[in-house]
Amino acid sequence: MKSQNELGIPIPANKPLIVRTIKQVTKEQREYALKKTEYNVFSFPADLLFVDFLSDSGSGTMTDLQWASLFHGDESYGRNKGYYVLLDAIRDTFERGDNPKRAINLILTGETNVKKLMDELYLTSFEGGFVNGGIHQLIRPNAFIVPQGRCAEHLLFSTIAPILRKNYNSKEFFIPNNGHFDTTEANILANGLNPINLFSSNLLDEFPWDQMDNRNPFKGNMDIKRLEELIQDKGMDAIPLIYITITNNTAAGQPVEMKNIKEVRKIAKKYDIPLFFDACRFAENANFIKEFEEGYQDISIPNIVKEMFSYVDGFTISFKKDGLANIGGGFFFKDNGTFHRKFSVEEDIGIKLKEKQILTFGNDSYGGLSGRDIMALTTGLYEVVQETYLNERKFQVRNFARKLAKNNVPVILPAGGHAVYINIDKFFEGMDSSLDDFRGVGFTIELIRHYGIRAAELGPFAFEWDKKTPEQKKGVLNLVRFALPRNVYGTSHIDYAVAAITELFNNRDKIPKVKISRGAKLRLRHFQTGLQPIYE
Ligand SMILES: *Cc1c(COP(=O)(O)O)cnc(C)c1O
Repeated sequence: MKSQNELGIPIPANKPLIVRTIKQVTKEQREYALKKTEYNVFSFPADLLFVDFLSDSGSGTMTDLQWASLFHGDESYGRNKGYYVLLDAIRDTFERGDNPKRAINLILTGETNVKKLMDELYLTSFEGGFVNGGIHQLIRPNAFIVPQGRCAEHLLFSTIAPILRKNYNSKEFFIPNNGHFDTTEANILANGLNPINLFSSNLLDEFPWDQMDNRNPFKGNMDIKRLEELIQDKGMDAIPLIYITITNNTAAGQPVEMKNIKEVRKIAKKYDIPLFFDACRFAENANFIKEFEEGYQDISIPNIVKEMFSYVDGFTISFKKDGLANIGGGFFFKDNGTFHRKFSVEEDIGIKLKEKQILTFGNDSYGGLSGRDIMALTTGLYEVVQETYLNERKFQVRNFARKLAKNNVPVILPAGGHAVYINIDKFFEGMDSSLDDFRGVGFTIELIRHYGIRAAELGPFAFEWDKKTPEQKKGVLNLVRFALPRNVYGTSHIDYAVAAITELFNNRDKIPKVKISRGAKLRLRHFQTGLQPIYE
């Protein structure tokens, strides 16, 4: 008889103890609401939807332990308890692998031994990693907590841009990535720098849906040949940072291989350029490495995470991803690493960043978060690396993609870690349609109108295709994303969505083109423009 692990179905990781009733909204009511919200799906009231795949960002279910840790939240203005346990949890997660200290337990269990608290938590001193401790964090700050990932991006790019202009021998600056997320791209552009996407060349290759459990081509990898060409073409001084996004959200949520991380690391080292992660879904990425990359099957997720982060000089992260928490973000860089050396030109870069952090997000020990948020996200850091949870999540995404593929809907295969992506070029193949028609947006509008399901276009509309040069246009994919919030939906929601998407696919000739009726020139316009579908 097969063992529990051989059934081909992951062991259930949890059970819901609270449910929320979904309102029975009619199609006519949704049509009215769409009109009243300028057909922008971001503006559509969530409470009027049946299923919401807009984002997995901060939209997950918290665990009972996370809810419980809220009660330990400390709302002090200076140096709340959570600040210390969070910084130590960052070290546990990204540096300590299978040997975490779990300092959070001192708080959760009500430790009253003052000496122990001082020695092990509040006054402990260390340096040389992603989080300086004690006095070293005051003198050489390198850990910054903020409300979201994009705040970390803003902090980083708005601080380095003037340093680059003043001190670097180049007129223009380029930040390559295996796939910039929309907010990363926008923050880079807003500071006068140029984002460059170096997608893996196999990204849009065909992949058989029945092979998803057997192999993975790691389509999230960075194209290292193009990376080296870019550096040689523009010159080392024009490339202040190299970024790898794990998993590659813009490139269909595809994972990045450890081998690729190491190769990029080698190039970064050769040219003395700091290498950063956009680390939003580090745990999901580690889980793909464990399942599919040779040599990692017997290594634990925490140890894989530790190895991944040993190759980078720093990272920005949204703690809203990987289902970690409902809010939170951060920026961390290696003490005395390449980034620190290259950017501490007139003043320590950490001191400069801290000044901006305080100006923008408040005292550095709460960073615009409540003490409760900090405790919930710290607890989440320990839960997100649990393999049973990761396996079940991955299986759900894969199953969603498999069901669509079986119905001939053109999904990007294999499925990524947090979402299913539909290839909109293929979806409308054979129809008279150009990227300026924003049919992917039309598809998301029709999904809400007919079926009360929300998804996000991540294509020519969101990535501002019509504002790009021919060269930049090559870096725009045409996708619609169905992101799965953590522990929110079950098979019934997925099956309802598969049926609805398939029905729309079979009637794709009725999906409207879309015009931007207001705000076409706005930055990150998908969050704020008005739209008008054109029904023929
Ligand atoms: C969500 C996300 C961000 C931005 O994080 P926010 O918390 O939404 O500001 C950056 N990069 C990637 C890959 C993301 O998925």
